[in-house]
Amino acid sequence: MYEKLFTPMKIGNVEIKNRLVVPAMVTNYCTEDGYITEQYIKYHEAKAKGGWGLIITEDYAINPTAKGYNRIPGLFKDDQISGNMEFLKRIHQYGTKVFCQMYHPGKQSTTEAAGVQPVAPSVIPCPACREYPKEISIDEIHQIEKDFASTAKRAKEAGFDGIELHCAHGYLMAEFLSTYINHRTDEYGGCLLNRARIVKETYDLMRAEVGPDFPIIVRLSAFEDVPSGRDIAETRVLVKLFEEWGFDAINLSNGLYGSHGRVTIASYNQKHALGVDYAKEVKEIVNIPVITVNRINDPLMADGILTQGKADFVAMGRGSLCDPELPNKAMNGQADKIRYCIGCLQGCQNGLFIFGQTTCLVNPSIGQEYREDLTPVKNPKKIAIIGAGPAGLETAIYAARRGHHVDLYETKDRVGGQFISASYGPNKGDFTTFLSWANWQLKEYGVHLKLNTTATVDMIKNGNYDEVVVSTGGTPIVPMIKGIDLPHVKLAEDILVGKEQAGNLNLVAGGGEVGCETAGHLGSLDRNPIIIEMKEQILSDLIGGSHNELLDTLDYYRVPCLTSTKLVEIKENCAVVEDKNGLREIPCDTVILALGYKPNTTLADELEKEGIKIHRLAGVIKTSDALQATKEGYELGLKL
Ligand code: SF4
Repeated sequence: MYEKLFTPMKIGNVEIKNRLVVPAMVTNYCTEDGYITEQYIKYHEAKAKGGWGLIITEDYAINPTAKGYNRIPGLFKDDQISGNMEFLKRIHQYGTKVFCQMYHPGKQSTTEAAGVQPVAPSVIPCPACREYPKEISIDEIHQIEKDFASTAKRAKEAGFDGIELHCAHGYLMAEFLSTYINHRTDEYGGCLLNRARIVKETYDLMRAEVGPDFPIIVRLSAFEDVPSGRDIAETRVLVKLFEEWGFDAINLSNGLYGSHGRVTIASYNQKHALGVDYAKEVKEIVNIPVITVNRINDPLMADGILTQGKADFVAMGRGSLCDPELPNKAMNGQADKIRYCIGCLQGCQNGLFIFGQTTCLVNPSIGQEYREDLTPVKNPKKIAIIGAGPAGLETAIYAARRGHHVDLYETKDRVGGQFISASYGPNKGDFTTFLSWANWQLKEYGVHLKLNTTATVDMIKNGNYDEVVVSTGGTPIVPMIKGIDLPHVKLAEDILVGKEQAGNLNLVAGGGEVGCETAGHLGSLDRNPIIIEMKEQILSDLIGGSHNELLDTLDYYRVPCLTSTKLVEIKENCAVVEDKNGLREIPCDTVILALGYKPNTTLADELEKEGIKIHRLAGVIKTSDALQATKEGYELGLKL
């Protein structure tokens, strides 16, 4: 099935057992002063055990202030070496090689994270981090180059198999390379050779410390995706230079913080394998290995990229978070058992903005390996779980994995709760992979799934359960206004899944995530949606890249959005709305309600009234709540 994916290949003198690479991803699992933790080791160990050929660690700080996040590792002190030795001993036992990525964040940091004002080639603030940086002096440049070299020396001493110099994603080295940030007029600014001088000097100092045979690879953005950012034309020149200078491989990515994450960490709104044609172009220019990355989660897709000669290695960041065992599953012919990344960025990106730790919506166990106990229980219990949305599913899977007997009740004819309609939103088809994986897990661990069954108090009483979990989610809010009972008034989730048909002129009441996704969906079907929203802005409940991308989708389909506008009445051929100018009628043939959800607590309340002890789980009522739902479900499943 796989032609090249599981064939070994060398980077420099180091043989990598297969072509599957975990690229650097910040986790915030280390201490604030850059020391390795058991959480960090166990997280990587799961991936090494899962069969990845090469792990490139997250960015190691090269000095105490070279930090864009507060809990990244560092190798700027000799006493940080021993923790890394232990880390590498544990990873190497699985035959996985480990390269240490090292970086300086430049202006893509904050005083809070770095402890000092961020520095940059020129005084241009990062659109995401906001702070104005200080222009770095030539003496400071030379000191940073030396810091990279001493960090490289420690990395070799610790037992790393190689080093990756981070020159991508808008960090300090990338800032020097790009006229987007670099407006210097000294020998480190101006022409491309001047802008690349810091990389050359750093490389030479690092090479002098680690010797000729130790791999040093470089990470570079093929294009930056901002006006006046660096593009492929200069990348063609740079990769050739990098090869001449002695770098052992090119790890080609995209973007920087200013491109708002659209291409650097690509969400479900971006196409799969979006960097692969750039990798192919670079591969035609250089004779050293090329690594490609960006929304490649499928081993078959990865193998195709390799066999078509578009890259030599495929990196899967999010794919490795969702399923650390992806390589082994693929190798054993179990690609259909992989827990695929859905591209939501809810757990792996959004939390990091507020110094949280990496987690994952579809895999809440990531980062928890150090405290997760899956030991089979000695005395299995009989457990009822009511509601098979993401929270109920996770509880059922983890409780059953530990040996409990689980009955999972679901009113509908399939599992997933509101996550089903969420997967019908624009570009969200990949969301179904989570539910098909969950269905397999329920079978695998023997969960008794009772579909089309509305659990009642009597059923639960008669079942003699030891534990009862209620995860019945939410019900849509329906306002008591005139005309609400008319037949052309429908619920957003019913429209999304095709249970109800949209008209040709659709008024969507509610500009939150569900309403906007429904409008985007209808826009893609050429059904003329218009959104009305009571607040001053639409999507005020959504953060991160998903917010901007959903706005882009609405823009693409030219969906009109009327804010500060309230639904007052529904008539046969129009909706009456109220805004600051008073009442007016908007013509429409269908009114779609997306006004939020209220918790569905009826059964939970009845059970408690009967004296039955229950566990209540938050239901998933929209996609951005699913992260919390799977986390709660997972934690309860391990506790029961
Ligand atoms: Fe993928 Fe979402 Fe998990 Fe991130 S949180 S790894 S995007 S599924």
